[in-house]
Amino acid sequence: MIKVLDQNTINKIAAGEVIEKPSSVIKELVENSIDSGATAITVEVKGSGLSFLRVTDNGSGIKKDEVKLAFLRHATSKLVTVEDLLSISSLGFRGEALASIASVAQVEMITKTADDVTGLRYQIHGGREISSEEIGAPGGTTIIVRNLFYNTPARKKFMKTDLTEISYIYDLMCRICMSHPKISFKFISNGTDKLFTSGNGKLRDIIYHIYGRDITSNLLEINAENDYMKISGYIARPCISRGNRSFEGYYVNHRYIKSAVLTKAIEDAFRTFVMIHKFPFTEINFQVRPDLLDVNVHPTKMELKFANSQDIYSFTYNAIRETLLFKELIPDVAPGK
Ligand code: ADP
Ligand code: MG
Repeated sequence: MIKVLDQNTINKIAAGEVIEKPSSVIKELVENSIDSGATAITVEVKGSGLSFLRVTDNGSGIKKDEVKLAFLRHATSKLVTVEDLLSISSLGFRGEALASIASVAQVEMITKTADDVTGLRYQIHGGREISSEEIGAPGGTTIIVRNLFYNTPARKKFMKTDLTEISYIYDLMCRICMSHPKISFKFISNGTDKLFTSGNGKLRDIIYHIYGRDITSNLLEINAENDYMKISGYIARPCISRGNRSFEGYYVNHRYIKSAVLTKAIEDAFRTFVMIHKFPFTEINFQVRPDLLDVNVHPTKMELKFANSQDIYSFTYNAIRETLLFKELIPDVAPGK
């Protein structure tokens, strides 16, 4: 007999694609906080994050009568028409994250907009509303996710050790910090501060905080701009290199994504500077005209396609090449000092 699946089952299936582990929940929640215009975002986890994680922001908040809607599948405030898909500037747009997370965990949201006097505390467990009540709250949104995958035991079996899950979250938070230097982030794991950025807009300060002095003292600033893209950030002198790609960081329109074209442009530009099988350190922000990119290739939005990939390649390659050729030759300290 053919039957149409109920919404809760559909949400659970979708959650299987997007919500793989605690760090995927944090990615979605923090991206929502960023989209809400927050200037300060705090992430706290206990254990591996499965039993407890909390994301607090000082962003727009959600109107009381829209909170329920936010947890519905395909409910989004960010995408209005199909045409909008072509010019997306917010991180989210599918309206799937909250519905997916709420279908596989016990979720509590406290949210208040600037215009409202009181906020709302809303609880939803396994896709079922538990409570909804008015409550005094600061402006912004707090989401607590408890007992992730409590109703999908098969998924829970795939979790790694607490330490490994925390390292995924830490790496994610580092990338988010570096792609949003103007937002102040705090990451607390089991009561200990793991990461803090001031939000002063200086990427260099964040690189120093995460990677330390050795790398920071070998940075070359990169800046280039044409009519469809802008490149800014840092590359390290070729003396700083690694045996794998884990130091090749770059972001497109503030998203941490993978792009075969950008990876190739970066590695080709460094080719004659680093030894074979070595990879450079980069933290580059690319700002590309939104109509030139397609981020809609996979729900986790990790792989990106460009309309004009050859142009993107050449411009990036040349910008890095010039930085290496000209800045590398200028020593930090003038001779004789
Ligand atoms: P999407 O981000 O793709 O729109 P989500 O399921 O992640 O979908 O979120 C649904 C909606 O809930 C968002 O479009 C937004 O309007 C609202 N929302 C979610 N998190 C926040 C937040 N931290 N602050 C303000 N609004 C939020
Ligand atoms: Mg979202």
